[in-house]
Amino acid sequence: MSNATTLPDAKKVGMVSLGCPKALVDSERILTRLRADGYAMSPDYAGADVVLVNTCGFLDSAKEESLAAIGEAINENGRVIVTGCMGEEADAIRAAHPQVLAVTGAHQYEQVIEAVHTHAPPSQGPFVDLIPQPDIKLTPRHYSYLKISEGCNHSCSFCIIPDLRGKLASRRIDAVLREAEKLVAAGTKELLVISQDTSAYGVDTRHDPRQWKGREVRAHMTDLARELGQLRTAEDKAPWVRLHYVYPYPHVDHVIPLMAEGLLTPYLDIPFQHAAPSVLKSMRRPANEAKVLDRIKAWRDICPDIAIRSSFVVGFPGETEADFEYLLEWLEEAQLDRVGAFRFEPVEGARANDLPDPVPESLKEERYARLMEVTERISAAKLDAKVGRTLPVIIDEVGEPDEDGDIGATGRSQADAPEIDGAVYLRNVPETLAAGDIVEATIEDADAHDLFGVIEN
Ligand code: SF4
Repeated sequence: MSNATTLPDAKKVGMVSLGCPKALVDSERILTRLRADGYAMSPDYAGADVVLVNTCGFLDSAKEESLAAIGEAINENGRVIVTGCMGEEADAIRAAHPQVLAVTGAHQYEQVIEAVHTHAPPSQGPFVDLIPQPDIKLTPRHYSYLKISEGCNHSCSFCIIPDLRGKLASRRIDAVLREAEKLVAAGTKELLVISQDTSAYGVDTRHDPRQWKGREVRAHMTDLARELGQLRTAEDKAPWVRLHYVYPYPHVDHVIPLMAEGLLTPYLDIPFQHAAPSVLKSMRRPANEAKVLDRIKAWRDICPDIAIRSSFVVGFPGETEADFEYLLEWLEEAQLDRVGAFRFEPVEGARANDLPDPVPESLKEERYARLMEVTERISAAKLDAKVGRTLPVIIDEVGEPDEDGDIGATGRSQADAPEIDGAVYLRNVPETLAAGDIVEATIEDADAHDLFGVIEN
C-alpha cells in the first residue's frame, strides 16, 4: 500500500507557516490532524481548496510580513484561513483583508480544524481514518522540533508572548518522551527541544512525575535531557539533542555534566538579551550578569566543547553609550559561539514602549553594526581554532556531481543548530552519502560563520 492513503477527491489544504519553530510545530500538528480527517496536502496555491496562514505577531515587522503573506494567499488562491499569534488581532487582519474566511488565535487547533471543515468540508471515505501514519513534519526527516510546553510566566518588558500564548503550560513528561521516541523511530537523528522557556519545564505542574520505562521521571529539564539521551536511533546511537530557549536559571548548570557524558549535545541556546545591569533591569530580565560569566567559565571547564548561542537586543530605551560599551566588553569576555542580535522594536502591548529615552534609529543601526563586528570577529577566531580537528557532522544535503564528478555536501557540526547557525561544507563525499548521515569530518578551513572540510575514511 503506497503512502498516499487519501481518496482521489480528498480536499487539499495548503499551509504557509511563519514565525518561530514553536509555530512550525503548531503547523505540523494542524496538518497531522487534518490528514487524519481525510485531507491531503497541497504543495502550491493552485491545488489547494483552502490555504492556512499560520502567522507571527511577535514584532511589528513580523506582523507586516504576516499581512503580506495573507494578501499573497488571497491573490493566489482566494480561500484563506488565518491562525497563529497574529490571529489574536482578528480586527486588524479583517481590516486589511476582509476576504479571509476565518481567523483564529495561537494554538487554537480545534477552531482551525473546525474552520477548515466548514469552508472545505472533508470528503468521506471508509479507509482513511483506519490507517495510522507518522505525524506530518515540516522539517527534513533527520531533525525534528520537540515542543515541551506552551506559554511563559515571565514578563520581559519588550515581549508580548505571554499575552499571546498565555501562562506556562508544560506537557506531561511521558507524552513528550513518547513523541520523541516516535520521532527517532521514524528517522529523526536530531531533536531540538523548544518552548518559550525550556528551563522552566514543569514548574507549573510541580515537576509532575510519571512512569517511563519502569522509571519515575519528573517533568523537569534535567530529567528530560537525561531520558532523551537514552533513546536510540536505527544505528543504535543516541540522537543529537539540543536545548533551545533556555532561560538563565541557576539549575541550568545541572545539564552541563550530561553534555560531558555525551547524553546531550554540547550546545546551549540561552538568550541573555543584554549584559548591562540597568538595561537588564528595565527589560525585567535576570540582572546578575557578573555571575553568568563565572558560570560560562565553569560550564567550559566541565564540557570544553560546549557551544553557546545567545541573542541580544540593541537600542533598548534608556540604553546609554556606557551600557552598550559594557555589553561589548562582556561579549569579549563571554566569547559566545553564536550570537543573534536584534534592534529594539516597540511592539503594541509591550511595557517597554512606555519607557523614557528611546534610542534614535540611526544610533540603533550603528550599535547593531558594532555588536555584529565584535561577535563576528569572535566567531571567526573560534571557528579558526577548529581547523585540523575531526568533528562529527550531520548531513543536511548532498550535492550533484560537478564536471569532475566530485560531490559536495552541506552539514552541521554539534555547534550548529539548523536554520540559525553556520554550516560545514564538505568536498569529495562518497556518492552513498545521504541526508541524516552522521560522519566524522576533518576541518580544513573556516570563515566567520562556516567550516570547510572532508570526510574521514
Ligand atoms: S522569557 Fe521569552 S517568551 Fe517569556 S516573556 Fe521573556 S522574552 Fe517573552
